[in-house]
Order: sequence, then structure tokens, then C-alpha cells
Amino acid sequence: MSDWYQLEVEAALRELNSSSELGLSSAEAAARLEKFGPNELVEKGAKSPLAIFADQFKDLMVIILIVAAIASAVLGEVEEVVIIMAIVALNAVIGFSQEYRAEKAIAALKKLAVPTVRVLRDGRLADISARWLVPGDIVRLETGDLIPADGRLLESINLRAQEAALTGESEPISKFITPLAARNGQAPPLGDRRNMVYMGTAVSYGRGTALITETGMQTELGNIAELIQGVEEDQTPLQRRLDHLGKILGYIAIAIIVFVVGLGLLRGEHFSNLFLVGVSLAVAAVPEGLPAVVAITLALGAQRMLKRNALIRRLPAVETLGSVTVICSDKTGTLTQNRMTVTVLDVAGHSRELATLVDSAGYIHNAVLKPEAAPEERSLDLLLIAGALCNDALLQDEPEGGRRVMGDPTEGALVLAADEIGHSKAELETRWPRLAEVPFTSERKRMTTIHHSPPEDEFAQAPWGRQPYVAFTKGAADGLLESCGHYWTGDEIKPLDEAARALILAANARSAQAGQRVLGVAFRGLDELPDTADESAVEREMCFVGLISMIDPPRPEVKAAVRTAREAGIQSIMITGDHPLTAQTIARDLAITTGDRHLTGHDLAEMPAGALQQIVQDVPVYARVSPEHKLDIVQALQDRGQVVAMTGDGVNDAPALKKAEIGVAMGIAGTDVSKEAADMVLLDDNYATIVAAIEEGRNIYDNIRKFVTYILSSNTGELFVMFIGPFLGLPLPLLAVQILWINLVTDGLPGLALAVEPAEKGIMKRPPYHPDESILSRGVGQRIVWIGLLMGAVSLLVGLFYYRQDPNGPWQTMIFTTLTLAQMGNALALRAHEDSVLRIGPFSNRLMVIAIALTVVLQLALLYTSIGRRFFGVVALSPADLAIGLAASALVFVAVEIEKWLRRRKN
Ligand code: ADP
Ligand code: MG
Repeated sequence: MSDWYQLEVEAALRELNSSSELGLSSAEAAARLEKFGPNELVEKGAKSPLAIFADQFKDLMVIILIVAAIASAVLGEVEEVVIIMAIVALNAVIGFSQEYRAEKAIAALKKLAVPTVRVLRDGRLADISARWLVPGDIVRLETGDLIPADGRLLESINLRAQEAALTGESEPISKFITPLAARNGQAPPLGDRRNMVYMGTAVSYGRGTALITETGMQTELGNIAELIQGVEEDQTPLQRRLDHLGKILGYIAIAIIVFVVGLGLLRGEHFSNLFLVGVSLAVAAVPEGLPAVVAITLALGAQRMLKRNALIRRLPAVETLGSVTVICSDKTGTLTQNRMTVTVLDVAGHSRELATLVDSAGYIHNAVLKPEAAPEERSLDLLLIAGALCNDALLQDEPEGGRRVMGDPTEGALVLAADEIGHSKAELETRWPRLAEVPFTSERKRMTTIHHSPPEDEFAQAPWGRQPYVAFTKGAADGLLESCGHYWTGDEIKPLDEAARALILAANARSAQAGQRVLGVAFRGLDELPDTADESAVEREMCFVGLISMIDPPRPEVKAAVRTAREAGIQSIMITGDHPLTAQTIARDLAITTGDRHLTGHDLAEMPAGALQQIVQDVPVYARVSPEHKLDIVQALQDRGQVVAMTGDGVNDAPALKKAEIGVAMGIAGTDVSKEAADMVLLDDNYATIVAAIEEGRNIYDNIRKFVTYILSSNTGELFVMFIGPFLGLPLPLLAVQILWINLVTDGLPGLALAVEPAEKGIMKRPPYHPDESILSRGVGQRIVWIGLLMGAVSLLVGLFYYRQDPNGPWQTMIFTTLTLAQMGNALALRAHEDSVLRIGPFSNRLMVIAIALTVVLQLALLYTSIGRRFFGVVALSPADLAIGLAASALVFVAVEIEKWLRRRKN
């Protein structure tokens, strides 16, 4: 069925056997899930394990090796063939398992990124993963939601959908529920089916209810899913730089090979030997293992971040996090707990704590209906009634008992406050049915609902007289007052003169100064229903009722996190829609600022172009800002060369999140649209989690630098041995199989262990690294060269010493063994860039201990088994020879430790 748009709402419900009051039963939903399958797009782009395995053989080096094996077979070198093929197989298995794990980890992350939907089942609202939606489900849609599947609208309250992803139309489409006819037998295009909503689009304004008609691959998006399988598998900047480095090394390798092979030929060596050595040198020089290790390191890093509540949505964020220099954070929910509690109510010069009101609940309840009640009681009552009515949160009884607030915590607090003095929201809404509304947006900082006034006999003393409708507005008091011409004393309506205005603003400032969030409430009687598309037609000439203050305590862990960030050279900036005084108080509490420097959205709007850039970093608090200002702030910071992490939760925050190097969305309070735009989602909405993720990011980058140093210094060592050996009068210092062994086994295992090294102690005590810095900077390049040369030289000298004694003796085995053991010392020392390994504990990375032990055992197995000797052309070393090799190789460990000591002394 695809002509849902032609049906009346009831017909569509009947067709799908659903009910707009009850939704589906859980049993029916389960049966349909069985029948239709989960609501997800089947990813055609995902790599099958077989494809990943096949990929391992596409590598140029592997192809060269296979060619070499064939060449050896032709030459009758059976052992060479076996060894090369074994190494090719080993390489494939290692490469496969790493890539497979990385894919799995990323797939798991993607699963977690599936949005939740508010769905009606068994007559109750529940939040479920969008995967479990089935046709017939009734879902609630709110501003900022992604449409989870295709559906026929049952209700549209100013609902507008952003459908560009599906239709290319960039303007939001406003939606209605009346049926549409087919035009001359032709179905209207998707973009014109304005009573339908489609998967892959988003609610940009308003709210609504939809009956799900198609899910998963049956949706319109599913039909074209092949076209949009743009799952981001892009390489990260670091991976690209490593690829580039690999190419350069490749050219260097080719030059060396030509040289070594040419020299060998001149010296009259067998071409077949030289050919193999050339091939293995090529394998030695090019770090083909690196991209795979980097991929798995990033993927595992993302998993570790997840354990700390940071969900990574784009892999490059893992490495970019380490370079963040500024964190721009929302206040509500990120720096504070978002547990709002109404504390103080203020009407026309009377201020009351909610707690004392609750005691007099019986008395105040319905005061607005009682002409005999004291004036302040009447206006307090109206304040709470309006606060609960102009409100989208609801209190729902839980099956396990107790009640739960669903919706925005600010609004939830108001519903609870009204409830405490005896106004249940459900009951209020039957008495004052809502007819229309102007939704809340962060730009307007207020919302309005329009209700039927209760009948005369029930509601004797409406301050708005006999008018049949009333509009309630709640929002930022400073702005709201501009739309008010009068205020209500509980007794009479008075003009809002300067004195009254000053009084209200003073009360507002008092609460804000205490770090509280303040909402103003106003009403306006109406003779007829206005057009809510024009908000200024509704929100004018209003009558101010009072102020509601609520506390939202700072999160206890944030203060320490702000300090950690500062020590790590990262500035924290608060950006909030709240009152400047509220913002400052909280910012001071959290030590984000000590002074009172701040800018408001108004200031920003007045500023000449380019002025913000000059001062942006000196201002720790931005208050009463709109989402578009966030974009300006990011831009100004980026113009100053900063790397910005920016949080956001609303629909209109998406551009700023995209613009920031690290866009951060809120897992709990954030809209789907903001999550889509983000690089990272905070599962706990907590600022401290950003700092934790940065620490992980720095560590991951650190570890990548460690294994790059390790692997490339080993390669340098091998090349040095092969290159210099002949000049010292040695025949080929290492056999092809020995080079392959070093490169794939003794490089690989400890290299992987370096990738999981825990964070160094000072990691959050040093400034962020520049995002464009070369992987070889800060000592990595130098180390690769000098450690490589030292390893090569030590091994060669040992070999030369043995060769001089006996050219037919174990000199080659000594070079091979010394080089391998030296690598182990190198791996151990490189576990920390600066710290001594003796201080961080030689055994603190268990994987490293295992990797080194395993490598040494394997190396000994080569020497002391006949198979090993036969295939690797080595001899069994005497214990004394082994000890000499070990001692020589220990030099490398000692040298790296000394260099680190010198470095520490210099700092
Ligand atoms: P932030 O998230 O930065 O603290 P918001 O954009 O949520 O700020 O809120 C900004 C201002 O908008 C608040 O100070 C308050 O006055 C007003 N406001 C917030 N939520 C609501 C709401 N649900 N209804 C009406 N006004 C609101
Ligand atoms: Mg907010």
C-alpha cells in the first residue's frame, strides 16, 4: 500500500489495525516485528568477512611476495616457497583479524547511534529504539526528532519537516492531516504529500503524531538506500598522513633495493638470492602493517571512550579530540544537573517559597476561582496553573508504581510544582483544553499556548473578563516584559509602568544572582483564535503575572574537570540561553571565570564584523545567546587558530556542531538532529565526559606515535644493516626470511601492545598538540633515525666481530638475534615518550609483557629446533653467545632511557 496520503486518518488506522488512543499492544507489536523485521536499512556497503580477508591479498607487498614465491618455486627453492607462503598467510591472518575487529567495533558504535522514539503501546507512552518500530505504531514527533520511519500524520501542531535529504527541498515543509487526492490519477511527488512524514527527514518545528505505515527497507528512503549508502568510512587525517609517509618510504626502499641488488650483482652474488633479499627489503622498508594498526587503535580507542560515556560518531574525532584547545559548553544539563526544582514564586511584590505554599496547598488550590481568596494567593495560583498549561511535559504513572516526568526538565519542574499544590496537569487540561500554540525556540526563549477559558459558572473571576480564550506565555522574563503592557496584582490589572517593570526586573536579577533559572509568565484574553503562524500577533499586549525561579545545581564533578582542562591548556567557555547573572554565578561556582566579564546575544548582534574575533578568547561567559551566535563564536575562535569542541542540543545548534572541529551532542536531552550533526555524543550529557574523552584522545595519539616510532625505527635498523653490511666486508648480513620474520612477527606483536599503553601521567598537564603537526614531530623523526642507526650498528658490530673470528661461524645468527632482542628493549623503552619505564613499572602493560615473552620464545624456537634452523638458516647459539647478543641489545634500551632522562632534565 502506498497511497496512505489519500486516506482519512480513521481509515488509515483501520487499515493497520491500530488505535490512536492505545497504539498497538506489545504482543501485536512483537508479532509484527517478527513479520516485518527490524526498522533498519540494510547496509549494502558493509564489508563481509570474506571481502576483508580477500583485501589482505591486494596489498602490493603481498603480491610481490607471492611473485617471489612463484619465482623461488621455479628455481626449485622449496624452503623459500614454504616460508614466504607461511608469512603471506600469517600476514593475512593478522591483517584480517585487526580489520575485522575494527569493523566490528565501528558497527557496534553505529548500532548505539540509533535514535529512540516515543511510541504509544498498550495505551502508554514509552521510549524505544527506532529499530523496534512496526507498521501500525503510533509515534509522537517533536521538534528536533528524526522521523524514524514512514508514517501518515494523525496530528500536526505547526509541524514542519526538513526533507532536503529525501526531496532536495531545503525549506521546511509544513504538514497537515487532511487527505490528498491523486492528481489526474497520478500520485503527487513525495514533497507534496504533506500529510505524510518520511524516514530520513527531521522535524524542524512544532510537533505531531504519526501512524507508522512502512518501516526499514520498505520506506521511501529504503527504496533509494543504495544511493545513499554513504556510511562514512573516510580515512582520518592521520591515516592519510601515514599513507603518504608510507609512499615516501616506499620510494626510499626502491632506491635502496636497486642499490643493494646492484652492488650484490657486482660482487658476483646469485641473482636468485639477491632477488629475494630485494623483495624482503621492500617489505621491511614499507610499514604496510601501520594503517591496520592505526585503524584498530582508533576503533578500540572509540570503545574505551564509550566506557567513559562518550559515543564517537565519526572516527576522525578520536584523534582530533587530542588537539582541542577550547571547549564551548552549554550550561543547562552539561555544567549543571538539569534537575530543576521550583523554589520561589514571585508575584506583584510578593515572594513565596514553594515549600511554604505546599503546606497551604488546600487553601491556595483553586484560589483563582475563588473571589474571596487573598490577591497574592490568586495570582500565585494562576502563575502555577499557567506554568503547567503552557507546558509540554507530563507526569505519567509508572507500572512499577511512582510517577515519572516526561519531557523537558524545566517544564517538568513546573508540572510538579503545580501538582504539589493540587493542580494535576491532566485535570487542568480537561478544564482548559489547549487549542493552539507557538512552540518554544531557543531564539525566542519563550512559548505560548492558547486555551479555552473554563465556563462562567466554573470560573467566576477571570482577570481577562468574559473573553472565551486565553493565551499563556512563559519564557525569559526580560524579553517577555517587552510584550507586556499590564500586570495583574491578583485583584486588578494595572499598567506596567517603569516602577513596576523595575520591581519585576529586580526580583528577576535577585534570583538569577543566586544561580537560579527564572521564567516569567503572562496571559492575554482573546475574543477569537489568532493565527499562530505569526507569533507577534499573539504575544503582544500581554498581562504579566509573575516569576517562577528554579534551582539547577552544578554537577559536582565539573569543577575538577574544568581545572583539569585548564592545566591541559584547554579553555572552557560557557554559552547559554539563560540570564547573564545566572550564567555568571554558575560559571564562578565552577571556576570557569573569576570575574564578571560576559557578552550577551544582544552585544554580539551589535558588534561590528571582525570585532568578536579580537576578544572572543577573553570572554568566558556568553549569555542570552541564540544558536546562530554559537556559529559566530566557533568561527571567531577558529579564526584565532583554536580547535573547538562545541556542545549543543537543539535543532538549530546543528550548524554550529558541524562547524566545530568536535561537535558534541547530548545523549539524554539532545535532539536527534543535533546528534546527527555531532562527532561525539555524551551519553551522560556531562561536561566532565568531554574532558575524559580528550584525555583518551591524547593517549590514543600518543600511542600511535609510540608504535610508529617503534616500527619505523626497527625498519631503519634493518635497512641500515643490509645497506652498510657489504661496506664492512660482510656478505648479505640477513637472509630474506629473516627480514620477513623481523618485520612481521617481532615488529607486530610489541607494536600492538604499544597501542594499548595506558595514559602517561602528565598527559593532561601539557598543552594540546597542533592538529596539523607531522607524525614525525616532537622527537619521533629523530628517534626513528637514531634508534634505528644504533640498533643497526650494534647488530652489525656484533656480527662483524664474529665474522672476523670465523666467516663460517654463527655471525649471521648473531646479527639476526641481536637485532630481534634489541627490538624488544626498544619496545619496552618506548612505552613512555618521556617517563622512565622503570618508574611506570616494566610490567604495567600486561599485553607488552606477553608480546615480548612470546616473541623471545618464538625467536628461541627458531634457534633451538631443527625445523627453525632449517627454514631460517640459523644455528643454535651457545649460552655465552646468546648472553653477548642480549647484552649488546640491552644497549638500545639503556640508550633510549638515557635520552628520555636528558629530555626530562631539559624541561
Ligand atoms: P540553556 O540551555 O543554554 O540554559 P535555553 O535555551 O534552554 O538555555 O533557555 C534559555 C531561556 O529560555 C531560559 O532562560 C528560559 O528563560 C527560557 N526557556 C527555557 N526553556 C523554556 C521553556 N520550556 N519554555 C519557555 N521558556 C523557556
Ligand atoms: Mg536548554
